Amino acid sequence: MSDDTSAVLIRALDAAHAAGREVRFWLRDDDAVAPTPALDRLLTLSAAEGVPVTLAVIPRDTGAALAERLASAPLARVAVHGWAHENHALPPRKKQELGPDRPAETVLAEIARGREKLSALHGARLLPLLVPPWNRIAPGVVAGLPALGFTALSTFGPEDPTAPMRAINTHVDPIDWHGSRSLCPEAALWQGAAQRVADLGTGPVEGTVGLLTHHLVHDAAIWDFVERFIALTRAHPACRWIDPAEVIASSSR
Ligand SMILES: [Zn+2]
Repeated sequence: MSDDTSAVLIRALDAAHAAGREVRFWLRDDDAVAPTPALDRLLTLSAAEGVPVTLAVIPRDTGAALAERLASAPLARVAVHGWAHENHALPPRKKQELGPDRPAETVLAEIARGREKLSALHGARLLPLLVPPWNRIAPGVVAGLPALGFTALSTFGPEDPTAPMRAINTHVDPIDWHGSRSLCPEAALWQGAAQRVADLGTGPVEGTVGLLTHHLVHDAAIWDFVERFIALTRAHPACRWIDPAEVIASSSR
């Protein structure tokens, strides 16, 4: 079974604790549009563990039913996940909705429409955070985001400290998208999380460890990993699971 490839993360958290460091974790879950049994499972996990969850919601396809479900999920936040989650990239460019293959004004108009719709549905639950579909966005689109009310962007991978907008990224994605579409090799996932914890202690980086999930496509192995990841970190004194509003609020940019 999975036994103890997770020990590497515990050791990294132990080292952080010994150095007096707090490590902030956050949970981003992508592609929600409506209540489903899988969403219920995620929200139940979030509530049981006291872990806030940020749902990156696809504006075009969502509606009041999701807002009604989240009314009884006080730890849930919402972020704008593009507009329709449609690919507009011209081959051979990788899939993206907010990329450089359409005029930035066109893309920004869609994002603005998405933000307005989600704001009307979710009110204060909506964060000023954009999550680009496929984690990709053109620089010309980023430049227009502050005027739309966004103060932060979330993609996947290490944050670029020179980026023009505050980034609150994700760093651990358990899904093997290009292979089995089930759980990635577990040892690599724990090692990646441990490395991120270590990296946060080596410089002036004010960062988090972001866990990225996609509740609609989780199989049993992925749910099991996510549940163990959260339980294991929650129990560690160096770890604190945060609402990303905390990071956005502390942003100097
Ligand atoms: Zn997505």
